[in-house]
Amino acid sequence: MTDPKQERTFIAVKPDGVQRGLIGEIIKRFEARGYKMVAGKLIWAPKDLLKNHYKDLADKPFYNGLVEYMSSGPVFAMVWEGKEVVKMGRQMLGATNPLASMPGTIRGDFGIDVGRNICHGSDAVETARREIALWFKEEELSDYEFANKSWIYE
Ligand code: GDP
Ligand code: MG
Repeated sequence: MTDPKQERTFIAVKPDGVQRGLIGEIIKRFEARGYKMVAGKLIWAPKDLLKNHYKDLADKPFYNGLVEYMSSGPVFAMVWEGKEVVKMGRQMLGATNPLASMPGTIRGDFGIDVGRNICHGSDAVETARREIALWFKEEELSDYEFANKSWIYE
């Protein structure tokens, strides 16, 4: 990473978000905030990858349904970089249950059901590291600087 005060998070537009044409909307919000995309791809994830991604939830009653939902179509997987992007990414996504999400958040603006909540965001810096390594190869991540960096950061 180019700047030690920057961090990275894994954000994915889930199959329902892709089907509903929200890839651009979600990218737009992170871009407009000043965050930098360092990787992005449309991928129809194999179940093994999704089971690994959600392995901490394996004992939940909704786990099988969750893996089915996430493998029902392609997702748009991304890595975003910037100051406190893990925490801010979660705030921009909203609460897990869209009905509990504030308007202005992605889930609060576009979702209703928890099992169709449009997007994923890493919940901690360590989780982000694991998820980025799971979904992307090192060479898929682009290290570059925004030319307008000094207009985003003081
Ligand atoms: P997140 O970090 O906000 O995505 O939430 P979790 O890590 O707790 O759960 C992962 C995903 O599982 C959520 O985004 C939902 O898609 C799904 N999920 C969580 N809780 C429930 C639930 O109670 N019912 C159903 N059907 N899905 C759930
Ligand atoms: Mg989670």
